[in-house]
Amino acid sequence: MKELIDKLAASHSLSLSEYETLIRDRDDEAAKLLRKLATQTCRKIFGNSVYVRGLIEITNICRNDCLYCGIRRSNTNCERYRLTPAEIVACADEGYELGFKTFVLQGGEDPFFSDEVLGGVVREIKSRHPYCAVTLSMGERSRESYKFLRACGADRYLLRHETADREHYAKLHPESMSFDNRMRCLRELRELGYQVGCGFMVGSPFQTERNLAQDLKFIEDFKPDMCGIGPFIPHKDTPFRDATAGTVGLTCYLLSIIRLIYPSVLLPATTALGTIHPTGRELGIMSGANVVMPNLSPVNVRKKYELYDNKICTGEESAQCRDCLSNRMRKIGYELV
Ligand code: SAM
Repeated sequence: MKELIDKLAASHSLSLSEYETLIRDRDDEAAKLLRKLATQTCRKIFGNSVYVRGLIEITNICRNDCLYCGIRRSNTNCERYRLTPAEIVACADEGYELGFKTFVLQGGEDPFFSDEVLGGVVREIKSRHPYCAVTLSMGERSRESYKFLRACGADRYLLRHETADREHYAKLHPESMSFDNRMRCLRELRELGYQVGCGFMVGSPFQTERNLAQDLKFIEDFKPDMCGIGPFIPHKDTPFRDATAGTVGLTCYLLSIIRLIYPSVLLPATTALGTIHPTGRELGIMSGANVVMPNLSPVNVRKKYELYDNKICTGEESAQCRDCLSNRMRKIGYELV
């Protein structure tokens, strides 16, 4: 294992079967070594800075039916909401006052957010806060749509690939969705000049160690600007309600590996990680992550954006959310920037 880890740290690359071995044969010693190398690498590039991105959950209405997701179309228990363009801009304004410089607009694939509507929101935020970055995470759209939104000023796009294995993808999604379309989107976003984020859930149903190795190989080849990984957590109103959640240990182990594959990648310690463990986000940062995403959504809709059970940070005002994360980071020797 030590040999494999040293090879990864030196060459930023392993073969598919080497990644699989690294995952399958993991033990405490390997995790400790990976963590040490990953945090050293991260410190060299980013010092003790942790980047913040303000997350605005703009709609939980979704035309898709991903089997794992609490806001899937078939979930009739989900109380639906959609923020108005004015409310979204107000969230960004509040975030700006709190010191945020990047806003992530995330939501289900809600037809209300046509190119004109979403593009208008992006243009408005960019005209009020020209030096801020706008990231979109609004799912699969056409090339023309991505092109239009980019022209409106969107800088970045987050679209998790979910799994790099075609068959595994089919087990997590309805027939109407395809692995090829997901990959098409990621490719086109890159071609159109977006900074692109991909990612996957750790411990999703049917996931094998081979699948995780494929995810790592995909990340090595695709070189995303950002990579969002977090544990899968079951939601009570989905077909995967009885599935087992991903673990903090494996998520942190993979964060360390990804940091070594791609030292300068932006790697969030996700809310899902903070949900399965009281100090999950801190553990993520101490494993090589360097981004946190406090919630800027209005408090009255927070609980409704429930992708999985018991999601944290649903009761706090934006300022509280930022201060809480800032204190948590300071306690482990990092500063929010
Ligand atoms: N609709 C957009 C999309 O598909 O990219 C953005 C919203 S989607 C809800 C954001 C991410 O939430 C997904 O990419 C998925 O990885 C994650 N997610 C959904 N359900 C989850 C669950 N049960 N546990 C952990 N993460 C989940």
